[in-house]
Formats: sequence, structure tokens, C-alpha cells
Amino acid sequence: MSMVLMGNEVSKKIMESVKMRASTLADKGTMPKICLLRVGEKPDDIRYENSVQKNFDKLGIQVQKIQLPTEVTQEELLKVIFELNKDTSVHGVLMFRPLPKTIDEDAIRNALSIQKDIDGMSDGSLTGILLNKTQGYAPCTAEACIALLDYYKIDVTGKKVTVVGRSNVIGKPVALMLLNRNATVTVCHSKSENLSKICSQADILICATGRAKMIGEDFVNPEQTVLDVGISVLEDGRVCGDVDFDQAAQLVEKITPVPRGIGSITTAILATHLIDAAEKAHG
Ligand code: NDP
Repeated sequence: MSMVLMGNEVSKKIMESVKMRASTLADKGTMPKICLLRVGEKPDDIRYENSVQKNFDKLGIQVQKIQLPTEVTQEELLKVIFELNKDTSVHGVLMFRPLPKTIDEDAIRNALSIQKDIDGMSDGSLTGILLNKTQGYAPCTAEACIALLDYYKIDVTGKKVTVVGRSNVIGKPVALMLLNRNATVTVCHSKSENLSKICSQADILICATGRAKMIGEDFVNPEQTVLDVGISVLEDGRVCGDVDFDQAAQLVEKITPVPRGIGSITTAILATHLIDAAEKAHG
């Protein structure tokens, strides 16, 4: 049976540090504050919004919520973003995406100042990862994978890492972050041939497709560490990842579960970015 890498342990440690830093900032007269910007009433967005509020309340981070109707215009949304850029009491903004199709999402995500882009959505933040410069913030889930590897002292230097998925939110940024740490990275996607063979040759396999349980016994090997980023809801309401956990956990060396794996760390990374931004703004 594999060693199970628990994301909630990683998250707990990160949250403790965030709480201390938030308290130090408060002692100096700065209340760290995040703005959650939501357009529409998608249940998943509302669920995540409530979860961020609950977690951040415990950490001593103020939460401002802006909720706009689906019919909001591009100009109105841009105006809100420009106001947030100017508001010195707000240190970071989390905007729920995708936005309604009537809105040019590229224009909106790039309107937010890079200093407040704590979810790493702007071109400037993503360029920071590409060029390995400390500019902006990485997308939180991509960084959550790195935080888990660090917590469990899994060194990627020189290791063969395969990432399945190439989205701008997870696959591409995590692949670049691993390359920046001297891993030998392969990125796979829906057009990749011989997917199971490529995956099975990796020392570390990171799966971020959103295809429930598609990674089975043919994709893994006994020395492998598997990070499962995917989150899917099965017909019976249970949540699972991209990996068939029951199969893979008998075969690999280390594996993250779903839930209580990578997903548990994402909010802790968001909180870290928010505190980083508040410290920079008032440092
Ligand atoms: P996207 O749908 O944007 O991207 C999915 C990627 O997987 C694409 O690159 C796609 O390839 C690839 N893919 C899809 N099917 C296959 C297949 N059969 N074989 C190989 N590659 C495939 O999803 P996201 O990146 O936004 O999210 C991925 C997963 O991570 C989802 O389950 C999501 O719920 C979860 N997630 C988890 C978070 C967390 O905190 N743990 C946070 C955010 C998301 P192609 O480019 O060719 O289409």
C-alpha cells in the first residue's frame, strides 16, 4: 500500500504561518483584506466563496464580497476592477472564472494590477513563471502541487515528471514551475499518443484533466509519486480525482487522495499570496 500524502496536513502548516503573519500585520495597523469578485450565481463559485470566507475569518483576514449580475457589462466590470486597483485597503482580488461569454475575459483578467493578482490569472503573473522571475503570483493550485512536494521533501531535481493537462490554470504553470526546479518535464494532453506508456515511465505523475478515474494501473509504476489534482463528482455524489485511487494506491510509492489532497492546499496558498501582497503594500 502506498504512502498517502495528505494535503490537509500541508494546509494546516501553511495556515499557521499565515495566521501569525496576519496578526503581525494587524499589530502594525494593517488589516489584510481580500476581495472576492463574483459575476452570476454559479453554485460552485458560491461554495468556494463561502469556504474562503470561513477559512479567512479564522486567519484574521478581512473578506469583502462584490457580487454582480450575469448581465453586467464589460465597462461596468472594468470600472469595478479599476476601483479595486486604487483601493489601498484591498490587498488582493480573487475573481471567479469563467466569466459570462458576453465579457472579454482576457481584458478583465489583465486589467487587475499584478500586485493584487493573488490568483495568478494575468498575463504578467504567468510571464513571471515562464521567465522564472518573482513577478506576480502563480495560480494557486499549481503552487499547491509544489507546496505538497516541498512539505514531503520530494526533490524533483533531475526527476522525470509527467504532467497530464495543459490548462493555463494548472497544467502549464505547474510544468514550468517544475522545470524551473530542474525537473525533466513532459506535458501530455488529450491528443497525446501512448499516454499510459509515457505516464508509467515518470518518477512523478501529476494529473490535472478532470476525467474521473482515467489514470489506472497501466499508467503507474511502483517507484512513482502521484499527485491527483482532478476533482470530479460521480453520479452517486461522491467526489473523486483523475486517478483510480483504489487501484493506484496498491501499486505506487506515494499518492495524494481526493478529497483531502491538493484541493485542500489551494486556499492556503491563496491566503499566503494575500499576506505576501499585504506585506509588500505596507512593508
Ligand atoms: P481544463 O478542462 O481547462 O483542462 C483539462 C486538461 O486536461 C486539458 O489540457 C486537456 O487536454 C486535458 N485532458 C482532458 N482529457 C484528457 C485525456 N483523456 N487525456 C489526456 N489529457 C486530457 O481543466 P483545469 O486545468 O481547469 O482543471 C483540471 C482538473 O483540476 C479539474 O478536475 C478541476 O476540477 C480540477 N481543479 C482542481 C483544483 C484544486 O484546487 N485541486 C482547482 C482547479 C481545478 P487538451 O488541452 O488537449 O484539451
